[in-house]
Amino acid sequence: MSFATAGIHHVTGIAGDPQRNVDFYAGILGLRLVKRTVNFDDPTTYHFYFGDEGGHPGTILTFFPWPDTRRGRQGTGQVAVTSFAIAPSALGFWIERFINKRVEFTPPQTRYEDERVVAFKDHDGFMAELVAHPAAESRPGWDGTGIPAEHSIRGLFSVTLWQESCEATGKILSASLGFRLVREQGSVFRYASGDEGSGTIVDLRCVPGLWAGMMGAGTVHHVAFRARDDAEQLEARTEIAAAGLSVTPVLDRDYFKSIYFREPSGVLFEIATDPPGFCVDEKLESLGTALKLPDWLEPRRFEIEALLPNIHPALELKGPNA
Ligand code: ZN
Repeated sequence: MSFATAGIHHVTGIAGDPQRNVDFYAGILGLRLVKRTVNFDDPTTYHFYFGDEGGHPGTILTFFPWPDTRRGRQGTGQVAVTSFAIAPSALGFWIERFINKRVEFTPPQTRYEDERVVAFKDHDGFMAELVAHPAAESRPGWDGTGIPAEHSIRGLFSVTLWQESCEATGKILSASLGFRLVREQGSVFRYASGDEGSGTIVDLRCVPGLWAGMMGAGTVHHVAFRARDDAEQLEARTEIAAAGLSVTPVLDRDYFKSIYFREPSGVLFEIATDPPGFCVDEKLESLGTALKLPDWLEPRRFEIEALLPNIHPALELKGPNA
C-alpha cells in the first residue's frame, strides 16, 4: 500500500514583528494562538502556531517571527498563496471586517463554479485568500476570539505554488504523496488528496519567466502534509526516497513528528504526523497562553525568556493599511 496523504497539515511562514503577527492572525482573522513556543533550531526566536480551537491538522498556520529579517518576495519555487476556508454565507461579514480593520483586499472573484475568493495581505506582505466554499462547513467554527462561529475561518482551503514548470512537482504529488489531478484551467493545475474537500488542495500555477521567490518576512517557509501515524510517515519517507529525493530523518517536533524534503521546483515540503497534537503539554482551555519549551530546552528557560520579546494577547488593533 503506497502513501496517500489526507491533505495539508500546516503551512509555516516567516513574519517580522511577533506582536503584529499575533494581532493580525488572532486579533483580526480570529484564529486561535494554540501554541507559543520557540523555533527548535533557534530558541532565541518564537514559533507561533495558529489554528482552530484544538489546532487540528488542516487548520494550522505557523510563523517564525524574525524581527530583524528583511522582507521576502513571492516568486517561483515557493508556496506563494495560502488560502483559508470560510462558509459562503460569511463573505459579507469578512468584507465588512476588512474594511473596518483597514485590511486591503481584492473584490470577491469567482473561481471555478463554486468558489468566491477574496485576496489580502498581512503587515509583512504574506499573500492569503479567503475562499468561500460549501466544503468549509464540514469543519466546526469557533467564536473564542469574538468572531461569530458561523463566520469564523474553518481552517486551510488550499495552497498555491508558483512554478517555472509544473510537471516535476505534479509527478511527485501524484506518484509519491497520493494526490490526484482534478482540474486544469489555464496555467493552473489543481491537485487534491483524500476527500478532495477543504484543506486537501494544492494548486500549481505555471508562471514561466516570473522572478524567483526570495525567502524573507511575508513568505512561506514550507508546507506540511498529513501522515496518519508514524508508520504512514515511514511509508511516505520510503516513497520520497524512491523518487530520488533526499529526505531528512524523522524529527520530533513535540506536537508531531516531521520529515522534510525539497520537491523538484525547490519548495520545502514536510510530512507531519497527526498525533500527538497540541494538547500534549497544555489543556485545551489554556492552549497558547504559556511559553512552552521542549524538555531539552527547559533548563535554559530563564535565559530564553529573557531574550524573547514580551507578547501580550492579541489586541484588535488596526490592520496593515491603517
Ligand atoms: Zn512544519
